Amino acid sequence: MIRILDKNVADKIAAGEVVDRPLSIVKELVENSIDAGATNITVEMRNGGKTYIRVTDNGSGIPEDQAELAFLRHATSKIVTDEDLSHILTLGFRGEALSSIAAVSRVELISKTADSKTGFSLKIHGGEVFEKVATGCPEGTTIIVSDLFYNTPARLKFMKSDSTESTLIIDFISRIALAYAHIKIRLINNGTILFSTNGKGDKYNNILTVYSKAVGDGLLYVYSEREDMRLEGYISRPDVSKTNKKQQLFYVNGRVINNRIMDLAVQDGYTERLFEGRYPVAYLFFTIQPELVDVNIHPNKKEVRFHRDLEVRNFIAQAIKSGLLSQQAIPQVKGGQ
Ligand code: ADP
Ligand code: MG
Repeated sequence: MIRILDKNVADKIAAGEVVDRPLSIVKELVENSIDAGATNITVEMRNGGKTYIRVTDNGSGIPEDQAELAFLRHATSKIVTDEDLSHILTLGFRGEALSSIAAVSRVELISKTADSKTGFSLKIHGGEVFEKVATGCPEGTTIIVSDLFYNTPARLKFMKSDSTESTLIIDFISRIALAYAHIKIRLINNGTILFSTNGKGDKYNNILTVYSKAVGDGLLYVYSEREDMRLEGYISRPDVSKTNKKQQLFYVNGRVINNRIMDLAVQDGYTERLFEGRYPVAYLFFTIQPELVDVNIHPNKKEVRFHRDLEVRNFIAQAIKSGLLSQQAIPQVKGGQ
């Protein structure tokens, strides 16, 4: 007999596409905080995020009467029509994260908007509302996710060691912290602060804070823009190449992504300047008109597709070539911006 799955089962299935390990939860929560206009975000995890993840922001907050709604699948405040899909400016838009996370863990949402007197706490366990109470809290949102996959044993087994899971999260938060240099981002692992950026808008300074002076030394600045695209980046002089591509970080419109076109553009840009098997360091922040890129390729939003591949590749490669030729120094960002 054919029947429609009940909501709980459907949500658990859908959750599998969005939430496959602690990293995906951290990613979705931090992206929500950024979309909410936060200027301060703290991420805390324990045991690689398996037992505890907390993301706190000072963003817009969620109105109390919409709290339960936020946890329904396809519930979003970010888009309305399918037309909106062609020019997405927010990191989220699918309305799947909170429902997916809540389906496979115990979640507590604590939030307060600017125009409400008190905040509230809403607890949802395995997709079911457990408790809702008023509570005093600062403006913004905190989401605590505990006991990930407690009700999906198959997934629970697939999580790796605490250190593997935490390394992925540290790696991701490091990357996002570079791009969002105007947001103070703090990362705490098992009670220890790993880093805290200053929120003053200086990406290069964040490379030094998040990685190290050794990584920052030997970088050149690249910048190029035209009407519909812009590249800003930090790339290594050809004499400081690496044996792998781990130091190549690509961003498109503020998303941390993997992208073959940008990868190829880096290779084109360095043609004949590097020995075989050596790779440059490249932190590339690429901005493109939202109509020229499709971000809705996969639920995890880790990839994008450019409508004009070759143009993008040439533009980036050219910017890198000019940067290498001119050996531009890294501009100093003064004060907060
Ligand atoms: P999406 O981000 O795709 O809209 P989510 O499931 O991640 O979907 O979130 C659902 C909605 O909950 C968001 O559209 C937003 O309105 C609200 N929301 C989630 N997290 C936050 C937050 N940290 N601050 C303010 N609003 C939030
Ligand atoms: Mg979201």
